[in-house]
Amino acid sequence: MRPSLVVETRPTITQFFLAEQRKVPGATGEFTAVINHIRLACKRIGNAVGQGALAGSLGSAGTDNVQGEKQMRLDVLADEIFVATNEWGGHLAGLVSEERDEPYIIPDAYPRGRYLLVYDPLDGSSNIDVNVSVGSIFSVLRCPEGVSEPTAADFLQPGTKQVAAGYAIYGPTTMLVITLGHGTHGFTLDRAMGEFILTHPDMRIPEATREFAINTSNARFWEAPVRRYVDECVQGKSGPRGNDFNMRWIASLVAEVHRILVRGGLFMYPRDTKDPAKPGRLRLLYEANPMAMVIEQAGGLASTGRGRILEVDPTGLHQRVPVILGSREEVERIERYHRDHDAGIEPPRAPPLFQERSLFTTRS
Ligand code: MN
Ligand code: MN
Repeated sequence: MRPSLVVETRPTITQFFLAEQRKVPGATGEFTAVINHIRLACKRIGNAVGQGALAGSLGSAGTDNVQGEKQMRLDVLADEIFVATNEWGGHLAGLVSEERDEPYIIPDAYPRGRYLLVYDPLDGSSNIDVNVSVGSIFSVLRCPEGVSEPTAADFLQPGTKQVAAGYAIYGPTTMLVITLGHGTHGFTLDRAMGEFILTHPDMRIPEATREFAINTSNARFWEAPVRRYVDECVQGKSGPRGNDFNMRWIASLVAEVHRILVRGGLFMYPRDTKDPAKPGRLRLLYEANPMAMVIEQAGGLASTGRGRILEVDPTGLHQRVPVILGSREEVERIERYHRDHDAGIEPPRAPPLFQERSLFTTRS
């Protein structure tokens, strides 16, 4: 009798991308190489994150980034890993990072290629010291024809132009979730083999959900449509939705998006009135756009409330945008609330009972 061995035979990420590459006639493998280096950068960062206090890498770096946010030591380290792992491959012309004011042009020591890489090296880094999941987010664009030294303007492409996008999540398991525009696929790092294995092929977001995520401490700054939506969810069974809802808030975009991909839900960092100079919290090029592509390719929607995120025309490398993403039916509902509000249509008045029970109305 043959001994029963447990052998991992699901496709590795290399097999998966080679198979994808063979579907495209005339593909040179350049793009596959770009993805390979991103994958290696994520493994390196995952490893650094996993060492935590052992490697002395926790805590603040004592500096601010271009957006005036405190940099953690691991923000800086992860950014350096991204550059060092991706600059020499020969297939990129330049990089844009959350942690760098200006684009990083591939130095003369290496060949320059046809692609641009835009990334958030460590997302959710304020969670690092408390050991909550963090991640890396990336977006791959084509370098405009004939350009070998890209300037900021060459990176200002709408999200519909992304040729690939995804994220790594460093949680109880390290995963890489990626789309090339044909579905969204999840790979789990087998730590013993050091290889990502296809464990979540063609992820699909349920169309309906009863779970939402928003930072309620900003409620007083929200616009009316968002206030209305959350108010109705909070009223639960006795409100106009007729259902009880759950709320989640991790404050790590990667972790929120991953939860939504796996079991549905809605995530919002909407426009608010807190700082009129900032029309949202999340950055378009390296947070909102890649996540919007991942979500849409899994059957969900990603909106500013007033239009598709992927169609926003970027005007700055570090520009911010309102983000509402997740299960299709809920995103459509919030877009409708925005349309109604902008057209001056009042929501139906709730019976007094609901008003009294609402979070956002003062009790008399
Ligand atoms: Mn981030
Ligand atoms: Mn970051």
